[in-house]
Amino acid sequence: MNIFSKAVHAGDRKRAGAGSGKRRDYTPSTTPIHLASTYFYDTSETVDKIFAHEEHGYSYQRYDNPTVAALEEVVNAMEGGHGTIACASGMAALHLALHAVLLDRPKRILCASQLYGATINMLTKVLEPFGTITTFVDICDLAAIEAALAEVKPGLLLMETISNPTLRVADLDAIGRLCRAANCVFIVDNTFATPMLVRPLEHGAHLSVNSGTKYLGGHGDVLAGLITYDAENEPFIRQLSRTYGPVIGPFEAYLTMRGIKTFPLRMERQCENAAKVAAWLRQDARVEKVIYLDDPEHPDREVIDRLFPAGLYGAMVSFAIRGAEKSDVFRFMDALKMVVPATSLGDVHTLCLYPLVASHRDVPPKQRARLGITDNLVRFSIGIESAEDVIADISQALG
Ligand SMILES: *Cc1c(COP(=O)(O)O)cnc(C)c1O
Repeated sequence: MNIFSKAVHAGDRKRAGAGSGKRRDYTPSTTPIHLASTYFYDTSETVDKIFAHEEHGYSYQRYDNPTVAALEEVVNAMEGGHGTIACASGMAALHLALHAVLLDRPKRILCASQLYGATINMLTKVLEPFGTITTFVDICDLAAIEAALAEVKPGLLLMETISNPTLRVADLDAIGRLCRAANCVFIVDNTFATPMLVRPLEHGAHLSVNSGTKYLGGHGDVLAGLITYDAENEPFIRQLSRTYGPVIGPFEAYLTMRGIKTFPLRMERQCENAAKVAAWLRQDARVEKVIYLDDPEHPDREVIDRLFPAGLYGAMVSFAIRGAEKSDVFRFMDALKMVVPATSLGDVHTLCLYPLVASHRDVPPKQRARLGITDNLVRFSIGIESAEDVIADISQALG
């Protein structure tokens, strides 16, 4: 099935009360919000079998829930994994993934030097105090990755499909091969690309993590996180989740699933709009530099062409405002009338973020410079509005 069809159908129309033996006489056409912390069955024998994993059935919401299971099924269908587990947020999903993988492996993490800010905080402020060692590497430098794998002997490697906010794309296939040769679990945070553009497990990743808060939910009203895993890593992840409970609630699962029905449609439109906005920015003299994945001169052109479907390059556009200092960027952000100057990304509405004061606030200036994050750089997440209206708003705000 095509992703447009999967997004609409996968996970839905499960038999109501399946496993209970009673009242199988109706099936809701879409998955309802099942608000129940516990489930009971006709016989104790059934309960016994369910607890022994001999029969499928719901028992307690920390273990699983029908609405959450439907969300997991649709994301898994799109990502093409062995299974998917849903969490309360993208960060909860990342924490569960890292924790589960490192349970029986060396407590050493090799990770991309460009990572989502909260992820860096989790690595350095949450996991390191528990004895985990983190080493950063330039994820677009294969020789450096190979050397680091040999030297550090990490239990896992963590990277993002598209880096933030400079939009670099590393060679997943090559890194996948290096990780497998080094017996290192390969985890990709796929939030910026989404399964519409890239499915990391097809390129050698063991786990793909998505923040469902972004494109999948898409409406700026829910937090969600998802881990799609291979067969080998399933037992650790499921077991750990059951034990410490970073689970998503049924209402949030429902909202995310409702968002997913239109996710491929939105994503297609957002990519189209982003290309239009990037093209306009490139010809405007007030703009010094534009970063978007359709650029023929993009440093990762060859990798992008191999990984991404033609013409679908995501909806993140970063650009530098010519000659702007911090106060000028503040003036620009404050002058936006339709675009929402708020954190997050992937929503139906266009969002604008200033890395210097938001995502990269805690990164020292020298390191920011090395990453190419200049003081005049802003990051846009393009929405589904008319591209012309987004362009008009940016143009008037540039003054
Ligand atoms: C937002 C985001 C996260 C965290 O997701 P939450 O749902 O906010 O917890 C992780 N990684 C990336 C790349 C993100 O954009």
